[in-house]
Amino acid sequence: MGYIDNTNKEIYEIRNVRFKKYISKEIINQEVQKIANRINNDYAGQKVLFIVVLKGSIFFASDLLRKIELDCEIETVRASSYGDEMINSKLRLSIENINMFNKNIIIVEDIVDTGNTLSELVKRIQSEKPKSVEIVTFLSKPEKREKPLDIKYVGIEIAPYFVIGYGLDYAEQGRNLPDIYILDEERQ
Ligand code: 5GP
Repeated sequence: MGYIDNTNKEIYEIRNVRFKKYISKEIINQEVQKIANRINNDYAGQKVLFIVVLKGSIFFASDLLRKIELDCEIETVRASSYGDEMINSKLRLSIENINMFNKNIIIVEDIVDTGNTLSELVKRIQSEKPKSVEIVTFLSKPEKREKPLDIKYVGIEIAPYFVIGYGLDYAEQGRNLPDIYILDEERQ
């Protein structure tokens, strides 16, 4: 192909960086349903507080939580990095004003890479004395893990490459793509 066509959603380009389609919205939907079924089953008859990690998880959380049939509360926390490049940089966490005492908590993440964000967040949440804390993430890159993390619910394990779409951005772009795209290294 001698040109880039962002309307042909197989290839998507942001700032001269090319991404290719990796996980379709149909597969995403199937996997979200499977996770919801497991959570509905595991927590049947119990209440759950879902803590959604902004911003990347908004689409996953929105899809997942509409499939949850439990009594639940929803809160959000912000975990933002300082840069907009394809590396994980320093972290800001904001979890003020959430009552977690004696509650079943499920943290909702878009993607777990090194695990640094979540291990920090789990520590902060555990200090609030909840009844239980589990993690659900749509994507996981196990090969990149730096901190050991016990993740109960994983949608799809992926290769250790940078992805965008379905809430995930590159330089704040690409979050709204309904499919997930991966860095197209062959075409750089
Ligand atoms: P971790 O702390 O596990 O290394 O990284 C978690 C956060 O880094 C995610 O919530 C996400 O914001 C960002 N991140 C990690 N991998 C990727 C990726 O492949 N693409 C995008 N867009 N963000 C990522």
